[in-house]
Amino acid sequence: MVFEKLEKRMIFEGKLEAITPLHVGSGEEITIGEATPILKDTVGQPYIPGSSLKGRTRTEAEKIAKKEGMDICTPPDVKTMCGTLKGSPKEFCICCRIFGTAGTTSVASKVKFRDAYPIKKVETLLTRTGIAIEREKGSVAPHALYSIEAVPAGTIFNLEIVAENISNDELKLFLAALKSVEDSALGGSSTRGFGKVKINLTKLFTRTAKYYLGEEEEKVLEGEELKRWFEEKR
Ligand SMILES: [Zn+2]
Repeated sequence: MVFEKLEKRMIFEGKLEAITPLHVGSGEEITIGEATPILKDTVGQPYIPGSSLKGRTRTEAEKIAKKEGMDICTPPDVKTMCGTLKGSPKEFCICCRIFGTAGTTSVASKVKFRDAYPIKKVETLLTRTGIAIEREKGSVAPHALYSIEAVPAGTIFNLEIVAENISNDELKLFLAALKSVEDSALGGSSTRGFGKVKINLTKLFTRTAKYYLGEEEEKVLEGEELKRWFEEKR
């Protein structure tokens, strides 16, 4: 594991809104006759794990970087990632530099997504029932009736992203990827229109090591100032 000095930590706060129903699965075994459940916390409230948000954002970052002609390794297999293929973190592809890599030279992610919880209690969840069509034959598949649980459209989650020592290039790709997540989808059943989200970052705190030592103020951006900052970064 390669450790770094804390040069700068950026904390983005914002909201993520489900524009269409959102199904972030728990990966649990499905009980026959019951809807495929979404992930819930100990009090039964839905949430989106930070790891899901990060995974989706990384996938979008890879697609954008490839389109831009950048050389990107192939996760998730460690054997085909920079941590195994490259000798030094300096040679890592931009996605491994942002999101980290496992392997002989493992490097932690520079960006961390906190688990996202709804801003207010979600009273009812949706259950969608449909018929699975076999793609090749166009006929109804065996065990064709499925039913799936989802968070209703309009549900708003609190979002917090922490980026540490991120360079301007990396930040630019990261913000583009986040934007691209909105237009692709989060969670399951995207072919049925699920998972369209709106991400709105509303506040940015910038803190250095000196801030934590009590020797420097943090920088806070919001409103028009933050909007201008984003425009400059893009
Ligand atoms: Zn890589």
